[in-house]
Amino acid sequence: MQTSFSSIQLADPHVAESEKILRKCVHCGFCTATCPTYVTLGNELDSPRGRIYLIKDMLENGRPADKEIVTHIDRCLSCLACMTTCPSGVNYMHLVDHARAHIQETYKRPLLDRLTRAMLAFVLPYPNRFRAALKLAGFGRPFIGLFEKLPALRPVAAMLKLAPSAIPPASPTAKPATHAGKGTRRGRVAILTGCAQSVLDPAINEATISLLTRLGVEVVVPQGEGCCGALVHHMGREHQALASARQNVDAWMRAIEQGGLDAIIITASGCGTTIKDYGFMLRLDPAYAEKAARVSALAKDITEYLAALDLPEPARRPGTVVAYHSACSMQHGQKITRQPKELLAKAGFVVREPREGHLCCGSAGTYNILQPEISAKLRDRKVKNIEATGASVVATGNIGCITQIASAAKLPVVHTIKLLDWAYGGPKPEGVSDSGLIAAE
Ligand code: SF4
Ligand code: SF4
Repeated sequence: MQTSFSSIQLADPHVAESEKILRKCVHCGFCTATCPTYVTLGNELDSPRGRIYLIKDMLENGRPADKEIVTHIDRCLSCLACMTTCPSGVNYMHLVDHARAHIQETYKRPLLDRLTRAMLAFVLPYPNRFRAALKLAGFGRPFIGLFEKLPALRPVAAMLKLAPSAIPPASPTAKPATHAGKGTRRGRVAILTGCAQSVLDPAINEATISLLTRLGVEVVVPQGEGCCGALVHHMGREHQALASARQNVDAWMRAIEQGGLDAIIITASGCGTTIKDYGFMLRLDPAYAEKAARVSALAKDITEYLAALDLPEPARRPGTVVAYHSACSMQHGQKITRQPKELLAKAGFVVREPREGHLCCGSAGTYNILQPEISAKLRDRKVKNIEATGASVVATGNIGCITQIASAAKLPVVHTIKLLDWAYGGPKPEGVSDSGLIAAE
């Protein structure tokens, strides 16, 4: 694609980076076929190619964002299916991240939208605030119907619908500690405790620590970790996202200095995509660029790490039929496609893949709150495809997808690591049956 940025514009490193990305796009439109919003809405401006044109026009003309571009960029899930499809290697992720930061800086949203976004950015990344908000959600639940009738309050209704009625108690594993590996030492890793996941399902990291230590891996929960910054990054709040990134880089660098790390284990693929991008996000900060690149290189999804460990034979072979849902941040953001399915199969599960596996479930960070209508359409399509597999449980590696799919599916939705932990001697995840369907087939 030809561009016509001035040399003054190109002196801004963010613009220079976006210009390089724009020049790679050859307008072929292959990406439209796999874009969930184009597939759902059928509007070129809600396709990757359409959005790329809108972003180019805004940046090239040095214009503040307007209502049209905000509408179409807000509808983008940042699922990155377009990056998997693109034959030209267009880095849509960095382009849309730049566009979102530009929107945040130059566009004044309607008051309720601003308040909703400010509240999400204030609450979600902080486990104590999020836990308190979930407790308060019970008072708002009777008013969901009313909120749904008022378009400006639909995000509040969506939030209340997603909030679980029971919140598990905080896990002791979320506290800074070192969990010693058992038997022959096979490594030393740090684990990201995370924000929303540690409140919604602390058993995910408990299963991870339990399995890793049984396999001989020492697991460190470093002092000073926090939210990875993805939630606010996708809302264009760059300063807050970079502050989170720096805080985590500091925490993990201390852990590296205190005993070395083979990996930084992440159990939510949405976080993994962002942490693997810290090196890029902090590239212009001389105090952090090198350290952030080192952290990004160490970041591993739990399934990526386990696949390289050469696991023993499982303690039991459950035989349960599992529909594996590959989160967008797993398959498109991190290109991890093989490992989770292979680990599940090796552990004795029967793995089935739903049709249209490349399409997003509509969760996408805060998307299911901010764009509830499109999100619900994508969720229902996803659940239909999952249920058609005939599986008795859904496995996935991202808490956002778990919450989203579980809000409509009739079968249990669990993190992949809980199934693996079970097969390798841990407890059976709640709601999952060991019906031995291998023998029944
Ligand atoms: S990130 Fe997803 S929703 Fe956004 S343009 Fe790409 S494919 Fe479409
Ligand atoms: S597939 Fe890639 S090159 Fe083709 S229009 Fe989409 S982003 Fe541009």
